[in-house]
Amino acid sequence: MSSEYFYVRPDAVHGKELIIDGDEAKHIARVLRKIPGDMIWVVDGAGKAYEAVIAAMNQSQKDSQHEVHCEVLHVEEQLNEADVDVTLAVALLKHPAKMDWVVEKATELGIRRFIPLRTARVISFITGVETSPRRVERWRSVAIAAMKQSGRSFLPQIYPVSPLAAVMEHSSEYELKMIPYERTDHVLSIAETLKHRETPKSVLIVIGPEGGFTDEEISTAEHHGFVQVSLGKRRLRTETAAIVATAITLNNYQ
Ligand code: SAH
Repeated sequence: MSSEYFYVRPDAVHGKELIIDGDEAKHIARVLRKIPGDMIWVVDGAGKAYEAVIAAMNQSQKDSQHEVHCEVLHVEEQLNEADVDVTLAVALLKHPAKMDWVVEKATELGIRRFIPLRTARVISFITGVETSPRRVERWRSVAIAAMKQSGRSFLPQIYPVSPLAAVMEHSSEYELKMIPYERTDHVLSIAETLKHRETPKSVLIVIGPEGGFTDEEISTAEHHGFVQVSLGKRRLRTETAAIVATAITLNNYQ
């Protein structure tokens, strides 16, 4: 396994030719000082990883942009990816840095999709800042860095901020839907819940805000076939609950 991965969009690869540009190319040329003949690993965020040799490097005289031309030697499908497709939906947090942290850690753990959620108890002043397209772009760049760092080949898709009701409406596409809920004594842990099932193809995990879910949200979830799960006796913060639920689920299917 390589220690460093570079990222290109799928359309940067044409047969055996792969072209890296932008900041990634600049990093290869200027910081890492790679030269033609050096081997690198490149992931496309859509499940492919390429082992490639640098064929040529150039810098445009017009705009001084770097370009690294590579020849693909070997392709790996689904490199370092889990078999289970996990989507994590998390209620918006007051501190933007904490949401960035959730995106980073959940990407390392192997989620395929991240949905920032607006629920009844998400404080309204958060939504102005957090719902801007710039915020979604920021989460996307956090996910790209975490994908490369963790050696994944899939870039999690970052959804725009979505109301919980809309996510529930579309939840029938997931084989298993779990809603961690701390207010009942009679729910199973995630490990117990998964033990009695065949491996699901896709899982949706929905995490509530600091104020928790309302009774109405819990009953709507039940109506849509969500399974309530416990993360233990202690009440966890939203960001902790998100990472714990993701880790337990994905570790179950390594
Ligand atoms: N309702 C709580 C706190 C909510 S914690 C209150 O008294 O204010 C935020 C979210 O994390 C919850 O909505 C739930 O999805 C999840 N969560 C936290 N601790 C949990 C636990 N022990 N079991 C299951 N879910 C938990």
